[in-house]
Amino acid sequence: LPLSFAQTRLWFLEQMGGLGSTYHIPTSMRLRGELDRDALVRALDRIVARHEALRTTFAQVDGAAEQQIAPADVGFHLAEHDLRERADADAELGSIMAEEARAPFDLEHGPLIRGRLIRLAADDHVLLLTMHHIVSDGWSMGVLTQELGALYGAFRRGAPDPLPALEVQYADFAAWQRRWVEGEVLREQADYWTRTLGGAPELLALPTDHPRPARTDHAGAMLRVELDEELTGGLKALGRRHGTTLYMTLLAGWAAVLGRLSGQDDVVIGSPTAGRGRREVEGLIGFFVNTLAVRVDLADGPTVAELLGRVKERTLGAQHHQDIPFEQVVERVAPARSLSHGPLFQVMFAWQEMTRDGGLALPGLEVGRVGAAPADVQAKFDLSLNLRQAGDRIVGSITYATSLFERETVERWLGYLRRMLEQMAADEGRPVERLALLSADERSRVLDEWNGTDAPYPADACLHELIERQVERTPEATALVFEGELLTYAELNARANRLAHHLRSLGVGPDVRVGICLDRGPAMVAGVLAVLKAGGAYVPLDPGYPAERLAYMLADSAPAVVLTQARLRDRVEHAGVPVLELDADVPAWASMPSTNPGVEELRSHHLAYLIYTSGSTGRPKGVAIEHRNAVNLLGWAGSAFGDGELERTLFSTSLNFDLSIFELFAPLARGAAAWLVDDAVALLRSPADVTLVNTVPSAMCALLDAGALPSSVRTVNLAGEPLPESLVQRIFAETGVERVCNLYGPSETTTYSTGVAMRRADGFAPHIGTPLQNTRVYIVDRAGEPVPVGVAGELHIGGAGVARGYLGRAEFTAERFVADAFSGQAGARIYRTGDLARWRPDGTIEYLGRMDHQVKVRGFRIELGEIEARLREHAAVRECVVLARQDAPGQTRLVAYVVGGETAGAEVLRAHLGQTLPEHMVPAAYV
Ligand code: AMP
Ligand code: MG
Repeated sequence: LPLSFAQTRLWFLEQMGGLGSTYHIPTSMRLRGELDRDALVRALDRIVARHEALRTTFAQVDGAAEQQIAPADVGFHLAEHDLRERADADAELGSIMAEEARAPFDLEHGPLIRGRLIRLAADDHVLLLTMHHIVSDGWSMGVLTQELGALYGAFRRGAPDPLPALEVQYADFAAWQRRWVEGEVLREQADYWTRTLGGAPELLALPTDHPRPARTDHAGAMLRVELDEELTGGLKALGRRHGTTLYMTLLAGWAAVLGRLSGQDDVVIGSPTAGRGRREVEGLIGFFVNTLAVRVDLADGPTVAELLGRVKERTLGAQHHQDIPFEQVVERVAPARSLSHGPLFQVMFAWQEMTRDGGLALPGLEVGRVGAAPADVQAKFDLSLNLRQAGDRIVGSITYATSLFERETVERWLGYLRRMLEQMAADEGRPVERLALLSADERSRVLDEWNGTDAPYPADACLHELIERQVERTPEATALVFEGELLTYAELNARANRLAHHLRSLGVGPDVRVGICLDRGPAMVAGVLAVLKAGGAYVPLDPGYPAERLAYMLADSAPAVVLTQARLRDRVEHAGVPVLELDADVPAWASMPSTNPGVEELRSHHLAYLIYTSGSTGRPKGVAIEHRNAVNLLGWAGSAFGDGELERTLFSTSLNFDLSIFELFAPLARGAAAWLVDDAVALLRSPADVTLVNTVPSAMCALLDAGALPSSVRTVNLAGEPLPESLVQRIFAETGVERVCNLYGPSETTTYSTGVAMRRADGFAPHIGTPLQNTRVYIVDRAGEPVPVGVAGELHIGGAGVARGYLGRAEFTAERFVADAFSGQAGARIYRTGDLARWRPDGTIEYLGRMDHQVKVRGFRIELGEIEARLREHAAVRECVVLARQDAPGQTRLVAYVVGGETAGAEVLRAHLGQTLPEHMVPAAYV
């Protein structure tokens, strides 16, 4: 006798081992009153005699599994325990129950149904019955209890077996199923499933609390679920209006919640179906239950009504094609298989309309529940929601895999389900993605509590004023160190002031741009200060950049004048922009006053600088930063770092990267010294006596590799790229550094927006910390709704650091800088970073990567999309994909897969990257 398809799958699973009690179907009941033990035993024996399934065992014969059926008189395997004399009867009962739940079944030798009768007192018993799923299902349990009631009642009265004989047995069904599967009906059903499930996502990527184990672990736990009368009534009414059953309505809500949690708009949910479509099998005990994989399409922002329509269509389709065993569906759809999760779906929704579990009724006995819960809950799926109607309410449970989820998380999600259903019932015209998941408490936690970063700062001050105040306090202190040369605050200030007065005479003032194309040195620093003091905004034009890029930035920023030097003049001299050589023998401003110019009309909302960053189109955009933006950053720096830390701050970053803002201004606003070098790698050539290094992780790696991090360094700031754990460990292991700060932020919100400081004793923090002062972070989904803790969304940044926008690019500005919907402050804006992140339960932020097609190497953004576009322009290239892989910190491999044109990839990369990359970034090889 062959096995049914479902049995075959379970048989295989059991052969693979490790299932434990996952497929046990237990029931327990308390019997109060006078029990006729003999009638009970006869009734149980009779049930086993009636149902071949309960006498079945499985054997491997010539490589194939077979059913073997024992004679009808084998009897029911009932163990009896007498606890009447035991003082510890309760404890003993508990351990008997636990033992019963766990004791394995032997599929080869049986029995596959067993029971225990525990006598607690003459009129008090507990009956435990356990079947293996391979011979039964939930419906079967209903058949069993019903027959048990009828037989017990009859035998107790001395009457004969009242039950009609069974027409067919399970093995007949299994054989029929095998034949049927060859047929035409089956082909049609199979087509339906391959059509509807083809291309479905392999995994519903729920945000788990723990990483998914390589092999599914069946340990589970269970929570009760109850929807009150009001909600149940609302859902019924909603269903009436849209022609959906409660099952469909609940499934729609559950799918919507799962979609939001996973960020997927294509969600497959399993649903059991009784599999008893033919009348002859209704009264049988056996494994009939089948599983339907219902795929719910959440794409294109359906309203509640539209989603109900979609779910209705899908569930009707599924039910119409439910005869084909799930095992066959899996085989035909052939999804990618993994031992770490079930095929096709990982979340179950069971609506128990199809079990006919009327409960056990035994004449003369009061049948009740047994107090103690079963010892182990088994989780066959990531999540299983089991609901049924109980009077005017909907009740049930949710079972979750404890290897993946914490109880609090699942409790929270149940709250989301309830809120989702409430809002669906309340308003069917709204788009489902706009319905709020979070409770008021959670919402205020992520929107306000975790953004409670208000701190006073001199919002009216300008960047250079902070420095001018230091000049007054400590004129003789060292402000700048460069190649052994020291400049005091007074000297630097005087030098900048003379130039500033001259710039004023050239028409520089508020919001007027001034280019800076200078070698790194005191003149560059004085130039930057002079521009600010004259009321203007500086535009860094790093002479290391390719000529084409410099030309672009010059044309785009349209500076009134460019500060440069003789050596570099020809790099910036074109299109009629006046240039000023700062290294001229007799500068025009030599005799200008050395006092602060004090520009009357300058306010902190005027521009301080313009830093170019390549946006998602690849055409660099000038980020326009106002004084007040940068002043807040410095306010944060002033409280986050001690005097000793900033005392001698390495200034190694190009002015064209906004890390330079911190390195130059944080020390100068504090009376400390900026230690200027060409770049971080310059430390390899000549060590510097610095206390703080602020750079990108890849540069830090290079310094460690060369053992070139000065021993005077106490604090390391790392920013601009994801910070690898190994790097932090190396820093603490190989140097005397006391604090490592991971700082995160795009140029558009003024250098740093979140951060975390790690002390040696703390070790690595796997996150980017919390919002800095006067900064607000929102993590939102596609519809702009705040996502729950743990769920990935786009990181939006609001607060004092938000830039004015992109210079001369109103459209882009409007797209990326939008109104802050959550701060409640009139006119507040946020910047949409395009970064993916999620909240951790403690309010820190985990950075997950870019949403778009972009990589960053040494702080420099490279647009893969643009490289692809260039490749496609090449005559020989028909198709291409460009991927980026970080081989090691500071070492990124771009791989271009090109169809057509053997050498085109290398050619285009060489030509394109050659023009794009700053000079210090040397491609290792074009292969
Ligand atoms: P930019 O505007 O060039 O400074 O680039 C900002 C982008 O760099 C951010 O949007 C992030 O994608 C990435 N980024 C900056 N800092 C960090 C950090 N600490 N960890 C991970 N990524 C970062
Ligand atoms: Mg940055």
